Amino acid sequence: MHDREGRVSVFDRLIIGLMPAMPRPLVGYFSKRYIAGKTVADALAEARRLRAAGCMVTMDILGEDVREREGAARVRDAYLELLPAMAEAGADRNVSIKPTAFGLGISADFAYDNIHALVTRARALNGFVRVDMEDATTTDATLAVYRRLREDSDNVGVVLQAALRRTVADAAALAEMRANVRLCKGIYIEPYAISWRDREVIRRSYLYALEVLLRGGSYVGIATHDELLVAEAMHLVHRLGVDRSQYEFQMLLGVTERLRQVVVASGHRLRVYVPFGKEWYAYSTRRLRENPGMAGMIARDILGLSPDRRRR
Ligand SMILES: Cc1cc2nc3c(=O)[nH]c(=O)nc-3n(C[C@H](O)[C@H](O)[C@H](O)COP(=O)(O)OP(=O)(O)OC[C@H]3O[C@@H](n4cnc5c(N)ncnc54)[C@H](O)[C@@H]3O)c2cc1C
Repeated sequence: MHDREGRVSVFDRLIIGLMPAMPRPLVGYFSKRYIAGKTVADALAEARRLRAAGCMVTMDILGEDVREREGAARVRDAYLELLPAMAEAGADRNVSIKPTAFGLGISADFAYDNIHALVTRARALNGFVRVDMEDATTTDATLAVYRRLREDSDNVGVVLQAALRRTVADAAALAEMRANVRLCKGIYIEPYAISWRDREVIRRSYLYALEVLLRGGSYVGIATHDELLVAEAMHLVHRLGVDRSQYEFQMLLGVTERLRQVVVASGHRLRVYVPFGKEWYAYSTRRLRENPGMAGMIARDILGLSPDRRRR
């Protein structure tokens, strides 16, 4: 729970602090809402539900930081199978990938080859591949792989994180090549030397990068659940006269569904990030750290401390 100034309560902080020691099933229980399930069929069922609600999807097979070539090749192959399954089910052929799951930590050339194979398959299916951005130790290598991919493919995009100080320069460089960019705040906790900390500063950095990208003619995935940023982005596209085909809003599965509905109802396109698979642990703990209030709320309920339960 947050107090009036948005501070996280001591109880919620305690729950988040205990998370590394929590049994995995408990973390799984807390994070169910963020994940479509374990199988492709689960993810396709979620995609159908979202389509009925007017949303597009991008699918992510959970997993990251793969250190063996065979493991990275397995990830690539799973995506190579996913795309045709999405096409057959009539879902958007749009996937998001973690470069370290494709072997970036082994070698940039190896990761490039794996991602290139996927981008080629996606192109044949009229599909799209988004290369997610991971922690700041991977930013240069990820952007370099993206530039190489763009040499022969347009159906590929990358991500910028507004929290990083370098993003002001990266946005300008990517706008120059009319890159397809998802803009987010950035989930990884980075050293102060390279990253903004203040919430308002990150918001300004986000809006500055968004304007640079839109003015440069980039297609932008406006990835945020921050109501202020959503409203400011709506004003910005209106003020710049940007056509609705040139951007989309993006949100994560299980987060701020009411805001999602508001965006869709006002006629903007919106894509939901649908993660699924067996490697759910790292993704789930990141989501729960973002939302300590929810972990705390469920813990209170389990312990019989929730105000609702006490009232019952
Ligand atoms: C489609 C998409 C793709 C992303 N891809 C990347 C990526 O490639 N690399 C990367 O570093 N980051 C990625 N992110 C995460 C992003 O960087 C932020 O960490 C995340 O979106 C939270 O920032 P926010 O802009 O929503 O603002 P916040 O200020 O964090 O959140 C705004 C409001 O949203 C709600 N909210 C936010 N998170 C949660 C949650 N977990 N549970 C419940 N409510 C919540 C709360 O009401 C909160 O007040 C992605 C986000 C989205 C939406």
